[in-house]
Amino acid sequence: MSAAFDPAAHLPDDLLERIRGRAAGVDAENVFPDDDLAELRSAGYLRILVPEELGGAGLGLADATVLQQRLATAAPATALAVNMHLVWTAVALILRDRGLDDLEFVLTGAADGEVFAFGISEAGNDLVLFGSDTEARPLAGGGYAFTGTKIFTSLAPVWTQLGLHGLDDTDPDDPKLVFAFVPRSDAVVTRDDWDTLGMRGSQSRTTELHGAVSPPDRVARRVAPGPSGDPLVFGIFAAFELLLASVYTGVARRALDLAVDAAGSKKSKRTGLAAAQDPDVRRRVAAMAIAYDALPPQIAQLARDVEDGAGHGARWFSLLSGVKHRATTAAKGIVDDAMLVAGGASYFSRNELSRLYRDVLAGGFHPSDPESAHSAAATAWLGPLEGR
Ligand SMILES: Cc1cc2nc3c(=O)[nH]c(=O)nc-3n(C[C@H](O)[C@H](O)[C@H](O)COP(=O)(O)OP(=O)(O)OC[C@H]3O[C@@H](n4cnc5c(N)ncnc54)[C@H](O)[C@@H]3O)c2cc1C
Repeated sequence: MSAAFDPAAHLPDDLLERIRGRAAGVDAENVFPDDDLAELRSAGYLRILVPEELGGAGLGLADATVLQQRLATAAPATALAVNMHLVWTAVALILRDRGLDDLEFVLTGAADGEVFAFGISEAGNDLVLFGSDTEARPLAGGGYAFTGTKIFTSLAPVWTQLGLHGLDDTDPDDPKLVFAFVPRSDAVVTRDDWDTLGMRGSQSRTTELHGAVSPPDRVARRVAPGPSGDPLVFGIFAAFELLLASVYTGVARRALDLAVDAAGSKKSKRTGLAAAQDPDVRRRVAAMAIAYDALPPQIAQLARDVEDGAGHGARWFSLLSGVKHRATTAAKGIVDDAMLVAGGASYFSRNELSRLYRDVLAGGFHPSDPESAHSAAATAWLGPLEGR
């Protein structure tokens, strides 16, 4: 993290409060937070990871994780949606720092106002980055036409470029996973099917690809299917896990703050004292704080390690999936406890904690899900399963 980094300079308090003020309405109406995006865009938030010489703020991944925690305290769904754009710009930066310019167009595109969505998830595809049911058909000249269905595409109503992957198996002996970007066109259909328990503002709708064309200069990389140490795959994994952990850490922080407020304002008829003086409440809030306090330093250190190219080798995957798993599960527990501290008021739909309770549940579904995080950790410590 750069010494001069000031989160409020990139995400000012008044902007944060306006975003917070809109979050309940966005959730209730199940709409994309257009006003949040417009204000974040004019504040330069979509360009935070773009180097200064390309027209951005020149921040690093560790700075972005702090900002995403801050944004998520105001509106988790807005933070989660913008996260997808930040993931791609972070991947581009990670590659650039390693001397690879495959995603330079993402950085210049973000500087020019493009909005990048993340089109990786497919129904039932537990291979995630290592496989795809989407067809990537090679075109003359080096481009690809993509046909398939991506699910949970956040930013669905507003993205201008969809970063995705698909399988080119025209040579059965040498299949390739193709990572590329397609612009919006008639070959892309966004279904209007986002009606979920939480994270409603992310508008992560289903995306149908009917031969959507990526021009040659938007084809980022072709890698062998299966587990891969390719820098692009590593970059996606690192940026995704750390920025996602940040969103849910921000949710945890907000829940902790709301619990502290509730503990200060609720008074016991029995003792005449504030709930904050009740030993049981104190113990509960303390446990929440202890769990929360572990998260920001872990994220910051791993983000700095990514920036510095630290040599964690094969441990990288379990370290990154582990921090995502810890953040999302801790956040879920903290929101749960915050509701107990706040009491029955938090059960009303109008209460912010009830929205956080719904939003935080999404954390377990994102890669790495609990099974995948535990499998990575088991492999790191015990070695691979025999016979696999
Ligand atoms: C709020 C939110 C935002 C997200 N944003 C993004 C994003 O921007 N980009 C992105 O790439 N991912 C995104 N994701 C997707 C996420 O990362 C997971 O991929 C997603 O939650 C699917 O998880 P899963 O593997 O548990 O679901 P699955 O079990 O794969 O279920 C997902 C869907 O696939 C169907 N399905 C399951 N198995 C099969 C099968 N064998 N054949 C056919 N259909 C099947 C299910 O019925 C269900 O409709 C988001 C998720 C959430 C919750």
